[in-house]
Amino acid sequence: MQKDQLFTRRRLLLAGGAALGAAGTAGIVLAGSAAETAGGAAAPAAGPQARPALKSSAFRLQPLTGYGPPRTAPRKLKVRTEPITEISRSGRRMMLTFDDGPNPNYTPHILDTLAKYDVRAMFFLCGECIVVNRELVARMAEAGHVVGNHTWTHPLLTTLNRRAIRDEMTSTSDAIEDTYGERPQWFRAPYGAWNRAAFQLGAEMGMEPMAWTVDSTDWTEPGTRTIVDTIENGAAPGVVILSHDAGGDRSQSVKALREYLPYLLDNGYRLTVPRRRT
Ligand SMILES: [Zn+2]
Repeated sequence: MQKDQLFTRRRLLLAGGAALGAAGTAGIVLAGSAAETAGGAAAPAAGPQARPALKSSAFRLQPLTGYGPPRTAPRKLKVRTEPITEISRSGRRMMLTFDDGPNPNYTPHILDTLAKYDVRAMFFLCGECIVVNRELVARMAEAGHVVGNHTWTHPLLTTLNRRAIRDEMTSTSDAIEDTYGERPQWFRAPYGAWNRAAFQLGAEMGMEPMAWTVDSTDWTEPGTRTIVDTIENGAAPGVVILSHDAGGDRSQSVKALREYLPYLLDNGYRLTVPRRRT
């Protein structure tokens, strides 16, 4: 899908689902589920990071020009010393996160499965993958998924100086804004290796640090069964699951999702994504 078409479609979504013809069916579904998500997810994460729910009309969308929106200064956040590792436990919420993509071999299958069950997830994207898979990021935006910044080249941040870390983070947020339509509000350090500069720069750029509760260990390619068992055994209210849709052979991650996602839903878990602020 061309960028201009995407933005036109977003304007239609803003104008209301009734303006859409048959081709806009997915958009109507999105608009409905967006309202539901925004209304029910007032506090995606317990504690000081919780923010008031967005009004449904504010969901993800903002007027865009053909040249893209002006890059406004982000709201600065309090500098944390530890990343967020779980979300609100109320309503048996859990969150699925997928790192290192997008990747044309695996991400489309992940997106297909999420769509099949009408579930939203978080994707922590790397800039170097975004620029060669722009249509996949547009698809994430269309489906109501939330994307976060996972740096440009996936370096170990603790080996970089502050300027290099800033470049990794800024360039990736720019690429996300260009493809997703807005700047990310979440950051995840590669390898979960945080340092003071990463927390400070993230806060400067308006991004909260998001880690995870349960590592699916899919990055070790342990077999689909092991990934499924790890996630199903780790399931509990408030849990954030770490998985990957890129960075190696992720066919096991793709297959595992088809098993554990219906299991989690059958067990009453509500898979959600954060709605932090406008
Ligand atoms: Zn990663």
